[in-house]
Amino acid sequence: MKFLCDAMLGALAKWLRAAGHDARYAREGTDVSDAHLVRVAMKEGRVLLTSDRGFLERKAIRDGEAALLLVPHAPVEKQLRLVVERFGLERRPSRCMECNGELEAVPSGAVLNLVPPKVAEARESFFRCEGCGRVFWYGSHWARIGARLDRVFGRSSKVGA
Ligand SMILES: [Zn+2]
Repeated sequence: MKFLCDAMLGALAKWLRAAGHDARYAREGTDVSDAHLVRVAMKEGRVLLTSDRGFLERKAIRDGEAALLLVPHAPVEKQLRLVVERFGLERRPSRCMECNGELEAVPSGAVLNLVPPKVAEARESFFRCEGCGRVFWYGSHWARIGARLDRVFGRSSKVGA
């Protein structure tokens, strides 16, 4: 299941990525027009997530050639819960919240000059984004993200350290 979030749903795209799901975000592309978004959704087999009922009038949506879920204006946690429940999504290893790239585990030796020395000393596992090259590790920031995902997915599905 892959998603395409319209220009209003950037926060939802980031949280879907944190939960390990492939979510593109309209504003990261060059063309945010409705027609273009519908084309991308069809071409890449993505479910279009939008708060804009106007999309329902588009022929490809009416004809069922492109899938769409209307997401109400609400706090992002509520929006995420809606998408998770609607499609029965499971929590997976996180993707890069910035660019949607997949994260690969890398040993601390590989990131020595990319992270602060204290972090490299204190942590054993690091992840590098195959898309943008950013390096991540489990720290207080990730703990907060994880706690929020726990609330949406339920504690039993917790992954990682
Ligand atoms: Zn990235």
